[in-house]
Amino acid sequence: MDFRVGFGYDSHRLADGLPLRLGGIDIPSDRGCVAHSDGDAVIHALCDALLGAAALEDIGTHFPDTDPAYKGIDSTLLLQKTVALLQKDHWKVNNADITIIMEKPKLADYKPLMRTRLAELLQLGEDAVCVKAKTNEKMGFVGAGEGVAVTVAVSIVKGCRQALVFL
Ligand code: MG
Repeated sequence: MDFRVGFGYDSHRLADGLPLRLGGIDIPSDRGCVAHSDGDAVIHALCDALLGAAALEDIGTHFPDTDPAYKGIDSTLLLQKTVALLQKDHWKVNNADITIIMEKPKLADYKPLMRTRLAELLQLGEDAVCVKAKTNEKMGFVGAGEGVAVTVAVSIVKGCRQALVFL
């Protein structure tokens, strides 16, 4: 069995009057992410973690923000394309562990919704997806409310079917 881990990071600037979408969920907020796409930093970090684990470069290589095709795109489509890229190389996602760092709004009520949505997109059980949220204790750009940052760790597996048969 081939087993890999990947790590992803993304951050976006927040601005007044923009919609806020994180983890495929629309979150009520007076500020949202400035971005070429829908600005879903959770999904962008998740895509980078998956691509990194499979040694398939990064999200900017596959979905460049200079390409008009991706202007305003629903990032869940990018995640579906990323999962398909991994599947082409026979990788299966094993788990995802996500940390969202932003000062406000508070995300506690939205974590279960993100978990359900991301598990569906990753074709995983919800017990294999964790969404955590925290503030930056008012320090730095996140603490000042200027932006949101996200870190993601994932694991992926290949060729486990045979191993399971013989165990
Ligand atoms: Mg991004």
